[in-house]
Amino acid sequence: MSIATPFLEMSQAIVDAGGEALKKCYQCGTCTGTCPWTPITHFNIRMLVRMSQLGLEGIEDNMWGCSTCKFCVDRCPRGVEIIDLVRAIRSVYSMGGMLPQSLRAFVGSMSARGNPWSGDQEKRNDWAKGKYPLYTADKEYLNWTCCTSAFDPRNVHVAKATAALLDAAGLSWGLPSTAVNCCGESLSKVGDSELFERLKTNNLQFFDNNEVKKMIVASPHCLDTFTKQYGRDYKVIHLSELLADLIKAGKLTPKKDLGGIKVTYHDPCYLGRHNQVYDAPREVLQAIPGIDFIEMGRNREQSMCCGGGGGGLWMEKMKGERLSDLRIEEALATGATVLATACPYCITMFEDSVRTLNAEDKIKIKDVAELLLESLDINVAEPVADVCTTS
Ligand code: SF4
Ligand code: SF4
Repeated sequence: MSIATPFLEMSQAIVDAGGEALKKCYQCGTCTGTCPWTPITHFNIRMLVRMSQLGLEGIEDNMWGCSTCKFCVDRCPRGVEIIDLVRAIRSVYSMGGMLPQSLRAFVGSMSARGNPWSGDQEKRNDWAKGKYPLYTADKEYLNWTCCTSAFDPRNVHVAKATAALLDAAGLSWGLPSTAVNCCGESLSKVGDSELFERLKTNNLQFFDNNEVKKMIVASPHCLDTFTKQYGRDYKVIHLSELLADLIKAGKLTPKKDLGGIKVTYHDPCYLGRHNQVYDAPREVLQAIPGIDFIEMGRNREQSMCCGGGGGGLWMEKMKGERLSDLRIEEALATGATVLATACPYCITMFEDSVRTLNAEDKIKIKDVAELLLESLDINVAEPVADVCTTS
C-alpha cells in the first residue's frame, strides 16, 4: 500500500486489521474515561475505535497518541484488546510508509543500524570498556543490555550498575555480542511488523547459537517482548526481581546508610500492568538502609504512565501535553528527593521533564539498581569478575 492508496481500500484495510476486536466494542467510553491522555490532549481512544469500525477518513490524526499503558485494556467491559487494535491500525499506515515525521528517524535508525539511537552497533558494548565477558553457553545468565542503556549517556550508568551488582553477587553471566540488535518493542507498537520480524530473527539466531537459557533484562520493554513475542523457551527475569531475590538469599547485602533520603517509586507500565511486577522493586528499596520510602497516590495498578511507551519516547510532545511532567509533579508533592523507577524509557522521559520543569535541584531520577549499588559501596570502575574483552 502506498501514499496514493485509494481511501476505500485504506478503510477496508483498517477494518480488516481490527478484526473481531473491532466488532466487540459497544462504545461505552470507559477506555477514554481511564486513558491518562484524555485530560491533557485531544487523543480519544473510544473515537479511534469508532472511526476504525466505520473505516472513516481522518483516523491518522488520532492514532499515534496511545502510549500502550494498558489502563483501558484492564477496564474495558467487553475485553477488547485495545493495544492490539491500535497496533493493527497503525500497521496499515506504517507498512504503507505513512509514519508521522517524528517517528521516521527512529524507524530509519532501526532499519539501518538495528537500534533506535543512531548508535554504531559495533560500539554497543563500549560502555563495558572491555571489562566484562561476552556470554557463552557455559554461563548461567545472558545480561541483555537494552539499546537505551547501551547508547544513551544517562542510562549507560544503569548498565554499569547492573554489571557491578551481578559481579558483586558472584553470578555467572555475560553480555550479548555486538551482532544483536534492539528487541524491537517500539517498532512492533508503531506497527512496523516487517522490520520487527527482521530484528527478532537476528536476535533469535544469537540466542539459539549460544544456547541462552536465562536472561536478565533491565528494561520492562525487553521483558515483555522476549516473553510474549519471541516464542522461545528461555527464562527472562527483570533486574529488579533478580536483585530482590539476591538480597533475600544473602548474596547482596545493602549496608551503607543513604542518610534518610525520601524516595518514591514509579511503576513502569510494562513492568507493572503488563507483567504484574509490583513488589520486587519496592522490596529492594526497602532493604536499603537510610531510605525513607513513600508512595505516590497513584501507584501499582493505578500508576501513571510516563508517556514513553508505544513509540512515545520518539514523538514530540508540546508543553502541557506530557504525562512525565505530571508524574514529576506528583513525585515532588510527596516531598521525595529521589524518584526511583526500573525502566530506561521512564528514566529518559523523567530526566527530560525534570530539566524542562527546572526541578534538577529538587529531585533526582534513579534506577532501583543505582540506589542499591550506592548502598553496597562498590567501585564501578573495578569490576569483580575476570577481565575479558567484549566485541
Ligand atoms: S471500553 Fe471497550 S467497549 Fe467501551 S468504548 Fe472502549 S473499547 Fe469499546
Ligand atoms: S493503552 Fe493507555 S494510552 Fe493507550 S488508549 Fe489505552 S489508556 Fe490510553
